[in-house]
Amino acid sequence: MQVRILGSAAGGAFPQWNCGCANCRAVRAGTFQGKSRSQTQVAITQDGRSWFLLGASPDLRTQIESTPELHPREGIRQSPISGVVLANADIDHTLGLLSLRELQPLRVYATASLQRILREDNSMFGMLHRIPEQAEWSDFQPGLEFPLCDASNRDSGIRCRPYSLNPHYPAYVKPDRLSQLAAGEASLGFFIHSSARSRLAYLPAVPQIDDALLDQLESCEVILFDGTFWSDDELIRVQGTGQTALRMGHVPVESTLEKLAGIGRPRKIFLHINNTNPMLDQASPQYRRVRDADWEIAEDGWQFNLQ
Ligand SMILES: [Zn+2]
Repeated sequence: MQVRILGSAAGGAFPQWNCGCANCRAVRAGTFQGKSRSQTQVAITQDGRSWFLLGASPDLRTQIESTPELHPREGIRQSPISGVVLANADIDHTLGLLSLRELQPLRVYATASLQRILREDNSMFGMLHRIPEQAEWSDFQPGLEFPLCDASNRDSGIRCRPYSLNPHYPAYVKPDRLSQLAAGEASLGFFIHSSARSRLAYLPAVPQIDDALLDQLESCEVILFDGTFWSDDELIRVQGTGQTALRMGHVPVESTLEKLAGIGRPRKIFLHINNTNPMLDQASPQYRRVRDADWEIAEDGWQFNLQ
């Protein structure tokens, strides 16, 4: 299985349009020791021809254009992108679906609750259904592995096991709808494999690290893990106001480094990194701490293979 990291920043990207934090200012000034980043987007493939997107970021159009493997190969209308797997209904995880509305057959995997939010409450997503055989939606349930198939049901050979992480839905979901949704279907991570041995963990939003999650991580080859905030009070410190990282559903990196210190074998990569996170700066002590702990900090364009 090939894995491509098309984007590695949290919502708002880096730099963020309205942010004047030290990181964003330094990037604009050309003095930053590190890279700018688009919003988190991962693509996977087993055969190199049929690709599946994990989420659909608002930056998807430019992320596709900067990845030749995702360009049309033959004919006037064609795409190697066969499907999208949604982990949550956040705007920075789903808005890119609207960039895939040009009548292209596509399979979209989402929990029943996510489908109700996107398809019944947000009429814009109806643009994915202007003709028959445009978007085919497939339901999945936490804990139950499912095969990734294209819109015509061709099996890619990739298997995906959803893992329920957070019971909270995005703030835009109306209260009367919230009462109809299943808590376990709000925000998920995925354990993905194409053979028995090698597993990829995709966990862009992790609200807590418990023994059950640690058990899952032990058997992975590569972990893509929530790197949103360095510390719990990061946003409050930068903005003077706001919520803690934990309240927003993100274990801070400094806690993750401690809690996952015992997990040695897999390659451990932080992604979904907020623009305020000091570890983005390669001259910072936080960057050094991450690298010394054998973690990596994802950059746009990274790729690797799983056996
Ligand atoms: Zn910033």
